[in-house]
This record gives sequence, C-alpha cells and structure tokens, in this order.
Amino acid sequence: MSLAIVFTRAQLGVEAPLVTVETHLSNGLPGFTIVGLPETAVRESKDRVRSALLNSHFEFPQRRITVNLAPADLPKEGGRYDLAIALGILAASEQIPKEPLQKYEFIGELALSGELRRVNGCIPAGIACSNSERSLVVPRLNMAEAALCRNTHTLTASNLLSVCAHLHGRNELPEPLKPVPHNAFYDIDLGDVKGQPHARRALEIAAAGGHNLLFIGPPGTGKSMLASRLPTIMPALNETEALEVAAIRSIANNISGADWLSRPYRSPHHTASAVAMVGGGSNPRPGEISLAHNGILFLDELPEFSRQVLEVLREPLETGHICISRANAQVQYPAQFQLVAALNPCPCGYFNDGTDRCRCTPQQVSRYRNKISGPLLDRIDMHVHVGAIPLRELQEKPDGETSAVVRQRVVVSRERQLQRQQKCNAQLRNKELVKFCKLGEYEKELLATALVRLNLSARAYDRVLRVARTIADLAGCEKIEMPHISEALGYRSLDRAPSSNTLTPA
Ligand SMILES: [Zn+2]
Repeated sequence: MSLAIVFTRAQLGVEAPLVTVETHLSNGLPGFTIVGLPETAVRESKDRVRSALLNSHFEFPQRRITVNLAPADLPKEGGRYDLAIALGILAASEQIPKEPLQKYEFIGELALSGELRRVNGCIPAGIACSNSERSLVVPRLNMAEAALCRNTHTLTASNLLSVCAHLHGRNELPEPLKPVPHNAFYDIDLGDVKGQPHARRALEIAAAGGHNLLFIGPPGTGKSMLASRLPTIMPALNETEALEVAAIRSIANNISGADWLSRPYRSPHHTASAVAMVGGGSNPRPGEISLAHNGILFLDELPEFSRQVLEVLREPLETGHICISRANAQVQYPAQFQLVAALNPCPCGYFNDGTDRCRCTPQQVSRYRNKISGPLLDRIDMHVHVGAIPLRELQEKPDGETSAVVRQRVVVSRERQLQRQQKCNAQLRNKELVKFCKLGEYEKELLATALVRLNLSARAYDRVLRVARTIADLAGCEKIEMPHISEALGYRSLDRAPSSNTLTPA
C-alpha cells in the first residue's frame, strides 16, 4: 500500500505536541494536497518539497498525493514540517525504506536545493521527544539548541540526502556535542557600583527572597546600573531552569549556547507595545516577560509605560505565566520573572533633591505617580530610594563587595528557604505566610502599631512579612525578630497616604 507514516512535532507555546504525517499516493489525476489545519507557510511546503526532492535527484511521484497532518485540530505553521512531508512522499513511493522511519521524529524546513534550514522551537521538541522512544533529527543549524537537550537522542543533518542516506543505513548522521555545564558568566559586577550601600543591601534582599523591587530616585543615580547587577548576585540557573530559558529563546529565535546558565535580564524601552511585552501576534511569539523567565525584567521610567502595558503585567506577576488566546488555540508561555522597576520622584526628576531645580507642582507629582496603578504597586515588595552620591564620596569610597561575595550569602539564604518551604519567600501564599512567618506577641504588636503610625495599607502587611522573612534568612535566624521587621518596614515608603511627601526618602 502506498501509505507512509512519519512523526514530527508542532509548536504551541512552549509545548511541542506530536504530529503524525500520513502520506498517501493514489491513482488519478496527479496532484498534491495537504490537509490538517495547515497555515500559509505549511501550504507553501508543497512547492519547497517538490523542488527539494527534484534537486536532490529523487523522483517526484506523478500520482495523487494526499498528506494529512494529524491531529487535525492542532494549528500548524511554519516550514518545520517540510522534512517530514518529503520523507513521507519518498517512503510512500518506495524510494526510501519505511521501517526505519518509525524510530525517529523529524523537524526541518527545506530549501529548494534540499538543504535544511533552521527552525524555531527546537528545544521544546527535544524536551517532548525525550519522553518517547524515538530519536530526534533536526537541521544542523539547530545544533547548539539540540545539544542542550541532554536527555534526548538527537541527530543533526544538513540536507535531505544525508537523512535518506542515514535511513538507508549508508551513512550515520552526527550527534551534536553536549555542552559541559559551567558557571553562569556575566561581564558586569556589583563591585563596579560605588557607594549606595542602602540600594546594594536592597538588591541583596531582593535576590535572596525573589522580591520585586522599585527604585525611586533622580536621573543619573545609577538605578539601571544597580538593576542590571541583580542577576550577577542570584544563584546560577540549574539545568531544568536553564532549559526552560533556552526553550523560550529557541522559540523567539534568540539562542546562544555559551552563557546558558546565566539568568536572563531584559530591559524593554517604555515605548514597547503590549504585544512586545507579553507576546502574541498572528504567529505568536513570546514577549519580554517570557524572555525574562527565571530572570529579571527591568522597567526603567515605569510611569512612562502605557497604562495598557502595565495592566497586562498584573496577571503574569501573580501566576508566573501568560495565556494568549488565538483564533483556534490558546497558547501559554511561562513568565516567572522578577520585576525591577525604576521611577523618577517627579516628572522632572529632581523633586526634593536638596536643590531648587524642581518646579513641579504637587498635582503634577501626584499625577505622575498615580500613573502606576495600586494593584501593580501592590505586587512590588520593596520600594527603595536611591539618592545622588556626592562627588567626593564617589572619589573616596572604596569599591564595594563583588558579586561573588554577595552571591554566596544569597545562595545560603535561598537554600534555607527551599529547605523550609520549597519556594522562595516572595512566592509564599497567604496560608503559607501564617505558617512560615510566625511572629512573637511582641513583634506582632509592634508591626500592628507601625502599620497604623506609618499609615500603611493592610495589604502592605503581607509584603512586610515576606521581606522580613528574607532578612531573617540572610541573618541565619529561624525566628523573625524586631530588627528584621523594622528594616522591612523601611521598604514600603510608597504605601503611605497619597500626598506629595510620599516621595521623600523614608
Ligand atoms: Zn520635578
């Protein structure tokens, strides 16, 4: 019977569901039909496959060819099915043997010459394939990504002919070289930052507990310099996390194998659209928040971002993923990022800086600040004021601790958290807060008094507890004590009753 079955993988968010390519040759008028919800690029596959077969000196069967991509309800896009379709036609017309095909899954776009082009989303396919008995064949240009999927038997091919030679048993396809895991590598260091002990301390707490952080200060005080150093003091990615990061990069066509244990750091400009930020589009791509998965999303000049962009951030900040609805499917991308935002104290930036440069009216200041909605502000655990450093201090201050020194403390405190509650403190839910952030009677009373006196919202209470938990963990204390709570209270300055002096340093 002129029927052939070839396996391949679709791409849906970070999932790569199995697709069976059924090819049937029948008598009748010669023709070539692809069914099974193919989108434009897949329909164009017909022309690429025909040319690739002819240019590789195979015969293109002059029969009625029907290719079915199953399951039919899964949307299919891109050129990734070309290789599987070509092999299906070759097997159905008995130009290659059928049996060996069952041991493999094939992904690859064909050039008209029969060469294999790079495809997006090779890592999700590799991860999914590791749960099957089959090996994965990918284009040679995807080798760097394929190498990261250590649990999958992967082979790389540069053209259609070499795949066919392999299936005939004439020539073995090569395996990609698996990388040796090394440490994360960053070309910047916390030691580059002069002064700012308060902000450095806040960074260390944020890194240890995974807290979202807001820097408030005039321009030129190094807010973005500080933020960009946060990944360098965080624990390196473990292999599972690194693979998640690489999978998203591989879908976004943004892969680099060299620094694959380093935490992502994304800093989109405030003109970024909602789609660029959260992902989507007619051919959905992950957005900045997913590219920042397991790392840092830095939003400089937070009030300048469009309201719509800031609103869409709320869901992923809560759930750690983003769902994008499309016409015929829903796509989900992970987005477990840590948010660092920066804010000028007023539209001109020099409010209350000790000079009289600022001419902003109290109304302008409060309108500026109110651009950030309460619910968004509510998801940020720490507010940190960054002041201008006097020139003399810049020249005389010795360099601060390096990232490696700070990271050691962060790692120890993370381990405490994971041992106690299997997650970092920023992710503690309300019930868990009660269990893991127990306060003594005296501490409870003090916190309650402070909330009233500092005019903090009730919602701030949980945030203070989480941060105090991290401060205690950094100090190696199982019990949360007074100094931990009072330091944590210092990171809630924007919660106070809205008036113009909410923006003065705490
Ligand atoms: Zn101003």
